[in-house]
Amino acid sequence: MENMVQFHDSMISLVGNTPLVKLNRVTEGLQATVLAKVEYFNPGGSVKDRIAVRMIEAAEQSGALKPGGTIVEPTSGNTGVGLAIVAQQKGYKCIFVCPDKVSMDKINVMRAYGAEVVVCPTAVDPEHPDSYYNVSDRLAREPGAWKPDQYSNPNNPRSHYETTGPELWEQTEGKITHFVAGVGTGGTISGTGNYLKEVSGGKVKVIGADPEGSVYSGGSGRPYLVEGVGEDFWPTAYDPNVTDEIIAVSDKDSFQMTRRLAKEEGLLVGGSCGMAVVAALKAAEGLGPDDVVVVLLPDSGRGYLSKIFSDEWMAGHGFLEEAGPSARIGDVL
Ligand code: PMP
Repeated sequence: MENMVQFHDSMISLVGNTPLVKLNRVTEGLQATVLAKVEYFNPGGSVKDRIAVRMIEAAEQSGALKPGGTIVEPTSGNTGVGLAIVAQQKGYKCIFVCPDKVSMDKINVMRAYGAEVVVCPTAVDPEHPDSYYNVSDRLAREPGAWKPDQYSNPNNPRSHYETTGPELWEQTEGKITHFVAGVGTGGTISGTGNYLKEVSGGKVKVIGADPEGSVYSGGSGRPYLVEGVGEDFWPTAYDPNVTDEIIAVSDKDSFQMTRRLAKEEGLLVGGSCGMAVVAALKAAEGLGPDDVVVVLLPDSGRGYLSKIFSDEWMAGHGFLEEAGPSARIGDVL
């Protein structure tokens, strides 16, 4: 018998090929099958590992990123973690720029992966030399620096066109009828959605989920609390022609569903996942037993324990009300 040693060359080869899991409880009363693409199985804990690999490899090929170069990106979250993991494995330095409202926990995660984090004051004008925008632009102009810019980088949607889309088509054996995802940079929905539309001859419906107030669902950029999705401008990574429908979801509905996913489906995921599931369930209303709705869940709930999973935080924002007939702080919801 051949002696087979099984291992991965590095964490980079573990990016992608995430599982699909059927939602069984929150779907009560619906006839369609609703499957979740659980992206926290990526090594950095989110869907953003996919774009990190593709953006860095493309920059190596084009020569924009040279050996020993520095990756500079204004990011405070999932994209930073993905970039930091790929960068350290390939010998690049990372400098991330983030506003001072970002939690120390998030900054420490990026530093743990070896990135340098520059924290900028929020209370200054964008024109101020210390502003988030000016600092990242200045660092990106240094010799050897390269700025991925996930909002305009075509390799962001391309990574989903090449990985997430084909994975879903194969995993469902071509039975997927609807794809639902939150829209932040728009990379996930544009790349995955365009692939699925092409491979199905236009049969797969693509539905965007958006926080109420964001521009994608007709808002003006009004503040909302769900993180990672919605914008106050239209990034070029988003292809507005890909979506058949955009469903706006409130913070309260998003967070209450996020809690239900942990409690009822065993999925400890982030707030944009709850938001996407609310939209997916709305889209699934009225569909038949042959319909297969896939909803993409971008990250884990571990980064939101002191917010969405804190009763005090939820109650302070009025998000616990109407959760049940007699819900009170401290009740098990
Ligand atoms: N949810 C979370 C938590 C995210 O970090 C992001 C990425 N900004 C998204 C959803 C949206 O993904 P995309 O940028 O591909 O539209």
